[in-house]
Amino acid sequence: MASQLDQLSAPARSFIAEDKGLLIGGAWVAPSDGAVEEVIDPSTSEIVGTVVHGGRADVDRAVAAARRAFEDGRWRQRTPAERARTLWRIADLIEQSAQLFAELEAIDGGKLFAGALGGEVPAAAETFRYYAGWCTKIAGETFEPSVPGLGLHGFTLLEPVGVAGLITPWNGPLVSAAWKLAPALAAGCACILKPAELTPLSTLRLGALVQEAGIPDGVVNIVPGSGPVAGAALAEHPGVDKISFTGSTQTARALLGAATSNMKKLSLELGGKSPVLIFDDAELDEAITGAAAAIFSNAGQVCVAGARVLAQRSVYDRVVQGLAEIAAGLTLGRALDPDAHMGPLISGDHRARVHARVAQGIGEGAVLVAGGECADNVLAGGGGYYYRPTVLVDAPPDSCVVREEIFGPVVVVAPFNDEADALALANDTAYGLAGSVWTGDGSRAQRMARGLRAGIVWINCHGIPDLAMPIGGYKQSGWGREHGFKGIEAYLEHKSVMQRL
Ligand code: NAP
Repeated sequence: MASQLDQLSAPARSFIAEDKGLLIGGAWVAPSDGAVEEVIDPSTSEIVGTVVHGGRADVDRAVAAARRAFEDGRWRQRTPAERARTLWRIADLIEQSAQLFAELEAIDGGKLFAGALGGEVPAAAETFRYYAGWCTKIAGETFEPSVPGLGLHGFTLLEPVGVAGLITPWNGPLVSAAWKLAPALAAGCACILKPAELTPLSTLRLGALVQEAGIPDGVVNIVPGSGPVAGAALAEHPGVDKISFTGSTQTARALLGAATSNMKKLSLELGGKSPVLIFDDAELDEAITGAAAAIFSNAGQVCVAGARVLAQRSVYDRVVQGLAEIAAGLTLGRALDPDAHMGPLISGDHRARVHARVAQGIGEGAVLVAGGECADNVLAGGGGYYYRPTVLVDAPPDSCVVREEIFGPVVVVAPFNDEADALALANDTAYGLAGSVWTGDGSRAQRMARGLRAGIVWINCHGIPDLAMPIGGYKQSGWGREHGFKGIEAYLEHKSVMQRL
């Protein structure tokens, strides 16, 4: 096994090696009823460290700390400008630790180091800057009431929703945490953050920076732990006013039941099976390269991955051939390997799930054009959870590879005849997170963008988020939106006030 530990910087090695507790009430504490779990590098299968897991009693403690911090106003009653300056400091600190964060994402989540350093880490920093800007712009409205004769003045106040539980997935740990924490803090909430058990490291490091930046004790609490224990405890907890969850649609169903305990508010950012529509008037080479990047980036472990490529019949064969050639040409390698195009999947279990779906899809009639197998020879001596980029065609419309989110480097390609056919196929899914349209015809692009039932549509590109633009799901891809003002509104209550003059 080729360990990556010796390639890490000294700060990264020492952070991974040090004892990391739970962040509760401003102190790093030992779990009262939790366990110690191994941290595994998916690039090598090596155990690189340990983290503690919080249990139900720890969630209770964290909620109590957050509740105290919220009620006494130590954060929400700071002026908007003070809150903004603190968020801006967090962004600066993330940037100063960019190398460390990128290393943590690489070793913990198998993310290619260069991609994390150039993409996700700066995106996390910018998220805090973006929401720092909103702090001073949260404002209600005034109204002229129509009730006659009383001399009334009406206005609204936007107030923080209270204690927010933030539950994040493993496929973008730092950036997912930033997308929740920054707007929640800008709104004035107190938070408990639960990272995915497979990728807690960058969130724990973020906790230290949040303290350094001057967020008061108890306003940000971090409880790493398993979903069914710590996540479920948070979702059920009567002291939590709001859950913002990013993860699978399946987990969200469990969350819905748990959240009824006190009818807490829910924001759900869920899975997808996003279509990529390639018309015969597109710049074909660009479209094929874009479609390949849409599914093979981060080994397909991306919520908006372009998992279904729909190609106009006249260019269908070229699209299939182009995707298969790119798939066959991608170099798999460790997350710290600068020559790797694609890293590993997150875990052995996940790789087994991905492979089982591919095998089932083939059993249901899909035809394999590229990949379709675990790659066990990427490292001399084995290790790591690599899966070959996979292209499938002729999959029956009801087969699992067409219907289900696989969350791996697996794309199904199908032909369409015309615009109506393309939209019918694209929208024939339980999901509605994202989609892209590749065409040289501007009017067609507009028609397709309007016709797709998805929360975000890209034209001649795919997978590019912007903090100013809301992102979220139609259908079973979620409730609510992150980013933009919508992202902060999710942590605000609207209060109407009527005053008799
Ligand atoms: P997941 O299994 O649903 O887990 C997401 C989070 O929920 C993790 O922190 C998990 O903890 C926790 N969890 C699990 N069971 C829980 C329960 N009963 N109650 C409360 N929390 C629970 O999803 P994942 O596999 O980590 O992430 C991949 C999924 O996230 C994909 O479906 C992907 O599409 C989706 N995603 C969506 C977006 C978006 O913006 N729409 C972005 C990224 C990812 P453990 O990890 O400890 O189990």
